Formats: sequence, structure tokens, C-alpha cells
Amino acid sequence: MSYASKQVQSLPPYLFSVFHEKKKRLQAKGVDVIDLGIGAPDLPTPDFIVDRLKEEAVKPEHHKYAPYAGTQEFREAVAAFYEKQYNVSLDPDKEVLTLIGSKEGIAHMISAVIDPGEGVLIPDPGYPVYDSAVHLAYGKSVPLPLDPDRGYVPMFDQLDKEELKHAKLMLLNYPSNPTGATVEMDTFLEAVLFANKHNLCIAQDAAYGLVTFDDYQAPSIMQVPGAKEVAVEFGSLSKSFNMTGWRIGYVVGNKEIIRALSIVKSNTDTGQFLPIQKAGVTALQSNLAAVRHNNAIYQKRMETMLEALWEMGIHAEKPRGTFFIWAKVPGTQTSKAFAEKMLEEAGVIVTPGTAFGAQGEGYFRISLSVPNERLREAVQRMKTFQAGGDVDDSK
Ligand SMILES: *Cc1c(COP(=O)(O)O)cnc(C)c1O
Repeated sequence: MSYASKQVQSLPPYLFSVFHEKKKRLQAKGVDVIDLGIGAPDLPTPDFIVDRLKEEAVKPEHHKYAPYAGTQEFREAVAAFYEKQYNVSLDPDKEVLTLIGSKEGIAHMISAVIDPGEGVLIPDPGYPVYDSAVHLAYGKSVPLPLDPDRGYVPMFDQLDKEELKHAKLMLLNYPSNPTGATVEMDTFLEAVLFANKHNLCIAQDAAYGLVTFDDYQAPSIMQVPGAKEVAVEFGSLSKSFNMTGWRIGYVVGNKEIIRALSIVKSNTDTGQFLPIQKAGVTALQSNLAAVRHNNAIYQKRMETMLEALWEMGIHAEKPRGTFFIWAKVPGTQTSKAFAEKMLEEAGVIVTPGTAFGAQGEGYFRISLSVPNERLREAVQRMKTFQAGGDVDDSK
């Protein structure tokens, strides 16, 4: 007998942990492994945010439980951010909820919205948490096909009519992990129309909403007229402000979904540490210069890596956002075989596309969240690997 529930026991295996084991084994043998599989920023949280935390952390009045929905101040800061960034008005009391990171919010939202057996359309390839959260909520994941030839926009017309009948929720994620795909407003408009037609609600995951390059500004789904009738949008300070460990995010939009989520949350957790919410307010109210500074670093790294990939004859599109490159596996080998070989022969970890769904086959993801010298070293090794030579790991 196992103490773990059937639902937990039958969770799809987490492909990342397989590579983590291999990494540890190689490191124990003295191999200098470069991990381009990491999905979190390597850069520190900007000083002005850390300073605010320090200042607030010493105040005893902040050492108590925080409100379930997050502080009024944080929710107002989110609403003001939406007004300034997207020209979207939100009611901070009913249309904004503070989260302990968006991952928690997405998982709890799924269980707050669906009943057992109901379908959830999830992007394939997509962030693996979606599928697991649907599974844990006794839902049914329905892969939402994306068009690799048109920048990974959804192919709504390829969805099965029967499956659609039982679907309740559709997840979107632009700018996208793992593909780096970005969209214009018309994609969100199309999604809202589709959701209306098929009685679905939408959750758009905007974790990388501010991680964009050059003049590209990622739109918010909330900018679509009527979006609030059907959609919520998740946001996070993790990737834009290098605050992954702080656990602070938010969800905005449809009142009913937000209310359902707040009920699940108030029965599960309690608001994030008050000084962290204060520091979050400081981040959201900033002029975003720190975000632009980070983005410039990612962009430079992206250009270095893309040039190298192209030189190796590996196909990859230049992304307009995120810190990921989504590249085609050369030849006919599987994603997994390619990634394993890359780790064993070059000591470089890349993530096989199939870690993100069946449609990820034939691709691999490179994360740019490693310092420049390490990235250049990885490029050198990948070139040697591609040329079929031995990588010298003695140095
Ligand atoms: C990192 C990530 C998240 C989770 O971010 P947190 O706010 O730190 O929980 C959500 N969605 C995607 C696509 C991510 O890559």
C-alpha cells in the first residue's frame, strides 16, 4: 500500500528530475556541467526592492498574518500598473487578487474553476505545471494545438468538437515558456471570441509579460473589449524583477473566477509576508528601468546563442521576449536522445521539448539565465559537440 493518493501516484513523471540526477552523477565525477535548463533568472533582485524589504522587515506590525486577498496597497499597485502599462482599469477589490507566486495561483484557480472530468485546454508545448494541476484537480487536459509555422498561435479549428463540449477552461501563455512565442492583440481577441462561442473561460499566464526586447510590448488580454467577462490574467514579479524566491504575484480580471480562487486560497493559505508585499509595491511602482536593464542582458545573450546555433546549422527563431530559445533538434534523433547526448558529451544541459508536451518532440529549449562567460563556454562546447569531437572537460 502506498500513502500517496492515486492522483499523486499517477502524476506524469517530471522530466527535469531525470536530468537533475544525471547532472549530479556527472558533477560527482568532476565534470563541469553548464545548466541551460534552468527556468529562473540568474541575476539578483534589484537593490531598491531589497532595500524596501529590509526597511519593512524590522517593523513588528508587519510580523502578523497578512490579509487573505493581499494588502489593499498591493492590489491598488497592481491596478495602477495595469492602468499605466495597458490602459486597463481594474477594481482593486474585486478584480485583483494577490498570490504567493503565480504557480500557486494557477494551480488553485484550476481547482476553483473545474469539476472532476471537465476539460481544460492547455498549450502544447507548454509549462508543465498546467497539466499536473489539471490532473490533481481531477480534470482532463486537452492539448491546445499551436502552429509552429505561425509563431505558435493557437489552432482553434483543430480542436475536437466532442472534447470542446466538455471543456470549461483554456490556458494561454504569451510570451511563452518554452517557445518564446509572442503575440499581438488579435490573437487574444480571437481567443476571447472563441471562448464566448464555446462557453469557456480563459486564464492567460503573463509571467513573462515584461521580459521583452526592442520595441515589442507584450499586450495584456485585458485590453480586449469584454475580456473581463471571460478571462483572468496571471502576473508575477518573479521573472521581470528577478524575485523568484520571494513568492509574489497576482491575478486580475473576471470577478467570478477571482472570487472562486479567493475562496480556495482562504481555506488553504494566508497572505504573503507583509514586507514582501510592500517591496512588491515598490517594484510595481518603479519606472521599470531595472526590467529594461535585465532585458538588455538577456537580449545580448540571446544574440550570442542564436548566432552560434545558426552557425551550427540549428534552426531557431529570434524571440521577442522571455529568456528562452526554442530550437530544432538537428537530424532525426528524438529530443530526449539529443539532450542526453549533449549532457553526456558536452556537459551542457538543455531541456528536451517533450518535457513540455508531445508537440515539443523535435525541439529543445535553451535557457539564457546563465552568466555570459558560462554561455560562451557552453557555445564552444556545443560547437565541438556538433562537430562530433570530444569535449575537453579536464580544464
Ligand atoms: C516561472 C513561471 C511561472 C511561475 O512563476 P511564479 O510567479 O514564480 O510562481 C508561471 N508560468 C510560467 C510560464 C513560468 O515560466
